[in-house]
Amino acid sequence: MSLLVMKFGGTSVANIDRIHRAAKRVGLEVANGHDVIVIVSAMSGETNKLVGWVQETSPLYDAREYDAVTSSGENVTAGLMALRLQEMDIPARSWQGWQVPLNTTSAHGTARIEAIPTDNITRKFGEGMKVAVVAGFQGISPEGRVTTLGRGGSDTTAVAFAAAFDAIRCDIYTDVDGVYTTDPRICDKARKLDRIAFEEMLELASLGAKVLQTRSVELAMRYKVRLRVLSSFEEASETAGTLVCDEEDIMESNVVAGVAFSRDEAKMTLVSVADKPGIAAAIFGPLSEAGVNVDMIVQNISEDGRTDMTFSCPNDQVLRAEKAMNDAKARGDFAFADLVVDQGVAKVSVVGIGMRSHAGVAAQMFKALADEGINIKVITTSEIKISVLIDRKYMELAVQALHDTFGLGEELGRV
Ligand code: ADP
Ligand code: ASP
Ligand code: MG
Repeated sequence: MSLLVMKFGGTSVANIDRIHRAAKRVGLEVANGHDVIVIVSAMSGETNKLVGWVQETSPLYDAREYDAVTSSGENVTAGLMALRLQEMDIPARSWQGWQVPLNTTSAHGTARIEAIPTDNITRKFGEGMKVAVVAGFQGISPEGRVTTLGRGGSDTTAVAFAAAFDAIRCDIYTDVDGVYTTDPRICDKARKLDRIAFEEMLELASLGAKVLQTRSVELAMRYKVRLRVLSSFEEASETAGTLVCDEEDIMESNVVAGVAFSRDEAKMTLVSVADKPGIAAAIFGPLSEAGVNVDMIVQNISEDGRTDMTFSCPNDQVLRAEKAMNDAKARGDFAFADLVVDQGVAKVSVVGIGMRSHAGVAAQMFKALADEGINIKVITTSEIKISVLIDRKYMELAVQALHDTFGLGEELGRV
């Protein structure tokens, strides 16, 4: 029996009518002869609401309780989806993460999947169940507490199930009809890609393209899962959507595959720290211990043995970062004159495997931004991406300018 994984994101299960439509799609695949594992997100807006309640109740919240609260949205949609399928005479049962069990680490809020024992669900399929509906995003820690996999984590649940159950494919149903050259909501010239390489998708996701959670792409790459992104609002077909696949399976592509952005950035500068061995460790050690995900780092040229250290981190970690730095100062770990926080920044990145063999992309990117009068605050590069931190008010302009510069709106436009 061939098994298919189908994941429905928040907008695809946003109300009873949408759940009904999603269930019909599942019904089609059952009629095609598949056993199906359906992964559901919470109804759209639900997880944001729950996160807001947690922050309002406790700004420096206990992550275990954050997970207890935020995982609950998926329980509702899993049960409703199973009920709807039963109404359609399809034998279906819902499973919460702990019931599977989906075993994770105990890193609450950003837990990683360690194992998915398949016995329970496989036995149920053997007894005639046609669809297992699994609540995405949630798991259980070795201590027996509910965990969550980070925002957008249902994508990762889906790919992990596809790998564990050796599914023929993992279909991610969402509110766009595939992966685009950039977010179609920001740039109306964005073009849908029929295929994208795992590595490019991985970079785009980690740089802010939330269409897939980064970890889901990592898992798909490692376990060779056939991963497809498609719309739950359009007619189903074998060729719909975007296939995320190996580089070798893509005939032609642009040097730059896409542009990603993240609004969720903050820039922090420690003014006048001593420029001496061990200072970076003294700063970034406590940040890491406080659970702050530092992204970009710049150290200024020093003057009179003192320097400024600038780093970026997600906006919602600024409070933790400030506390970690002020605590370290109070302990006498190191001194600084001031801690300047800029929460009005965004990160814009261009990504493409072609950059490995094609020089000049950085120069072209910086010129396009300069032509729009956009000042670059921090730059980082890797083999297949270049990222810049800029004022958030210029983010959309920057995305559109870069999309144009690299010819992404045109069929196989080349730089
Ligand atoms: P879901 O709730 O189905 O998981 P998400 O909101 O997490 O959906 O992800 C889909 C959204 O990702 C789209 O609505 C789109 O705005 C955004 N997005 C960002 N970058 C891209 C991209 N390159 N291609 C397609 N969608 C993108
Ligand atoms: N509901 C969770 C979130 O909004 C997980 C997901 O939808 O993938 O982040
Ligand atoms: Mg998502």
